[in-house]
Amino acid sequence: MQTGNEPLLSVTDLTVSFDGFRAVNDLSFSVREGELRVIIGPNGAGKTTVLDLICGRTRATSGSIRFKGTELTRLKEHEIVRAGVGRKFQNPSIYEDLTVFENLEISYPKGRGIMGSLLFRRDTAVVERVNEVAHTIFLDDQLDRRAEDLSHGQKQWLELGMLLIQDPALLMLDEPVAGMTVSERVKTAALLKDIIRTRSVIVIEHDMGFVEEIAHQVTVLHQGRILSEGSMEYVKNDPRVIEVYLGH
Ligand code: ADP
Ligand code: MG
Repeated sequence: MQTGNEPLLSVTDLTVSFDGFRAVNDLSFSVREGELRVIIGPNGAGKTTVLDLICGRTRATSGSIRFKGTELTRLKEHEIVRAGVGRKFQNPSIYEDLTVFENLEISYPKGRGIMGSLLFRRDTAVVERVNEVAHTIFLDDQLDRRAEDLSHGQKQWLELGMLLIQDPALLMLDEPVAGMTVSERVKTAALLKDIIRTRSVIVIEHDMGFVEEIAHQVTVLHQGRILSEGSMEYVKNDPRVIEVYLGH
């Protein structure tokens, strides 16, 4: 069971090998409640694989992932979602033919599956929650628009909203501001600061200005291992980080 001191997420000695190649190699780190952790590092460092392991898309070769006192390495992907872990991929997976409202509504935990939720009565709790999330993701004046007509940045926010409506305790985002305009990036930073008031977030990102703006702690991965970890100020002045990543 979770104690007051136990982090929300504890990754311990986590390893995955693909045909003998260790993409993640004996990795240990933890994330506290209310923490916004950013993972940076060169391409191929193993960043996306770490998220794949936590959300159960990839099976660990060895090691442990504890979340709220539960061992995740033994659970299936949907069980990990139900335990409170949300994952956003690099390309938004939204329903292009549906409106913003409908996309959020079908993601509401009570009515899973398109048919089930479109037929189920729109009770006030659902409508209220959809409106609340739409406001958080800057789409409250876009509820009746078809998702395909949104800008790239708005689609990214919509997918974030589809995760938020499930109220995960841990949200993991892979390069959330890639392809966004400068003003969309600024708004996304504000959005992340808003949502960590009630949850923890892990973000993989390359945009160092954005990382500097949002990160509590930064973990620098290199060849499946932690190269450096600490505040942005600390890691950006770490000679090892400059050599393998920031210097390029
Ligand atoms: P990053 O996100 O840091 O750029 P990845 O986690 O995507 O890096 O990949 C880390 C390494 O693991 C890469 O060399 C990649 O080719 C390899 N890799 C990732 N997933 C698989 C897989 N399913 N099978 C084989 N190799 C993989
Ligand atoms: Mg990646």
